[in-house]
Amino acid sequence: MAFEPGRKRGARARLPWNFSGYRRPGYHDAVTRRAWLGVGSIATAVAIAMLLLRGTTSDAPAVAATGWPSPSFQLHPKAPVFPDGFGMRRVYVDAGHGAEGNTGNLSAFCEDEQDFTLRAAIRLASRLESTGRFEARVSRKDGAASYPERVRAAQEWGADAFVSVHSDVRGNAGVWSPRKGQTCPMADSGVGFAVLYSDEGSPELVEGRGRLARHVAVELASAGFVAYGGSEYGQVYAAAQDRDGVFVDRHAMDKRIFVLRRTSMPAVILETHNALHAVEALRWTEDETLEAMSAAIASALASALAEARGLSAQR
Ligand SMILES: [Zn+2]
Repeated sequence: MAFEPGRKRGARARLPWNFSGYRRPGYHDAVTRRAWLGVGSIATAVAIAMLLLRGTTSDAPAVAATGWPSPSFQLHPKAPVFPDGFGMRRVYVDAGHGAEGNTGNLSAFCEDEQDFTLRAAIRLASRLESTGRFEARVSRKDGAASYPERVRAAQEWGADAFVSVHSDVRGNAGVWSPRKGQTCPMADSGVGFAVLYSDEGSPELVEGRGRLARHVAVELASAGFVAYGGSEYGQVYAAAQDRDGVFVDRHAMDKRIFVLRRTSMPAVILETHNALHAVEALRWTEDETLEAMSAAIASALASALAEARGLSAQR
């Protein structure tokens, strides 16, 4: 299906608003948006939230008034390009969390991360398959699976790449009420994507991971997403020198991320956005955002896997 920008722009209205967190000056515009939550092939219309949107102030450079994640900003995905001889590649798409007792974070709309990641992973997998160049598997379509089970499944299947989808939580959480009677966490900084990988292991493996991470960051930025700067990551992730939005796992050894270090094919985690940032989280409920991310990952996989085999991408 063609990408249809502007399809879901909503009407403007003044809102009942019950926000007990912080409120910066300059916020004046109320926008009602309707979001579509895609569940498998069934698109369910959900009027998810009404947000009081705030203009940009000089202390908030991360959220430009007209750039991502502003509601008026339109992403501009492009179709992936495959070089001759690319063939058919296998991509294991991990929907982050959803293991026993592991639901992940809670978003500004009180959505469990595991529900977001499953929706995003299903969308990504179907977009990859629609290119005719990828076979894709989603890690926990059939129920909970442990991380070792996922890594084993990807290996046994012969996956060429492992892409794990997550959302992040950044910034000091206040609380707000997106719907009557509901109180959810919220933060107003730290937007953008982050791509994580592990630099432990053989040089070839590390090179393959870094290559995939860089291409993912390049393609997401080219579609209009912004790279997270990493200021809230502290010591746990180190920014890669060669590309904005790419980070290397620096957790203490016993806390390092299993799916990044134990996979035998190039693996990355994509932290799509800050789930606590209401404006950005709302954009990630939109079908066009999932489409833009999925197209970007398809392009990144096309480039990274081609480059790994010395195929020249005809861009
Ligand atoms: Zn996560």
